[in-house]
Amino acid sequence: MKNNVLKIGQGKINEIASTLLENNISGKILYITDPVVDRLYSHIVRPQLEEVGKMVKAETVESNTIAYAMSVAERVIATDINCIVGMGGGKVLDVCKYAAYISKVPYLSIPTTLANDGVVSPIAVLKRHDNKPKSLGCAMPTMLILDTQLVMTCPPQFVKAGIGDIISNYTALKDWDYAVANGKDTMNGYAYLMSKTALDALIKTQYSSICPEFIDVLANSLVLSGLAMDFAGSSRPVSGSEHLFSHALDYYCEKQNLHGFNVALGTISVLMLLGEDYSRLLAYLKKFEVDINPKHMGIDKETFVLCMQKATSMRKNRYTHLCTLDLSKEKLENVYDKLVNEL
Ligand SMILES: [Zn+2]
Repeated sequence: MKNNVLKIGQGKINEIASTLLENNISGKILYITDPVVDRLYSHIVRPQLEEVGKMVKAETVESNTIAYAMSVAERVIATDINCIVGMGGGKVLDVCKYAAYISKVPYLSIPTTLANDGVVSPIAVLKRHDNKPKSLGCAMPTMLILDTQLVMTCPPQFVKAGIGDIISNYTALKDWDYAVANGKDTMNGYAYLMSKTALDALIKTQYSSICPEFIDVLANSLVLSGLAMDFAGSSRPVSGSEHLFSHALDYYCEKQNLHGFNVALGTISVLMLLGEDYSRLLAYLKKFEVDINPKHMGIDKETFVLCMQKATSMRKNRYTHLCTLDLSKEKLENVYDKLVNEL
């Protein structure tokens, strides 16, 4: 089955059964969710699944480890499950995405938050045995249902993080241009355009607060970013120096923040280091109250400096501006002070 089912809008949660039927899904369905989502929405979701499937097996996600995702895949294969339906936030969806990829069954993804562009990306982030995250290549969800009204009910932090992840496309594209100019990478014009369009659509939106119509724009931008990754065959169009910094924070920072806030902080920090204008992006983040002041995020000066200096080593084959910028302690400490004062 091709990745061509995309339903975004208010009330789409009621189209689960029709979507599955339209795509000839029947038989055994595995429904994976988390306890909170199950409590809130099972009365809407389960009857629809039971209408379509001969047998619906439901489980709440145990963890977001590689081992758990593999065990789900193993059960899907061993018990002839025909389709995985995953509903929830990033943890649930990444487990389902990877399990569906390994077991080669269609996957219906129903996000309840929009915290990052992993919603429809061909990448699942799962934890290793040592609890550190690992990005694993897999396939895009075969079907996506995103109810903008439902996403409105999740804590606003999860929407604000999604805004941050789209803002980071700005430096990601800048780094891609830089890498190509230095002969360190090749360009994929179509993927570049998708990532840029995702960013521009969000920046130019007429909405100035989080409302269902804005959620619609954000969802489209996140989907476009995911498509850009799929098209490029790597995360390059949406992941540059700011993402390397965020990966370093995942490793070295005790306080863990949502990915979207980390990469947005990375974006503004790198632009400061480059001496470039970041006022428009910062004004946009402030308009939506995306607070990326490192002090408020629990990132102290020492950790900030360490993570900026370690960033390039997080992914050695990704050439970015950080490879040539002055990352001396003094320079980075100045940037940190500026961030704390201005953000
Ligand atoms: Zn990201």
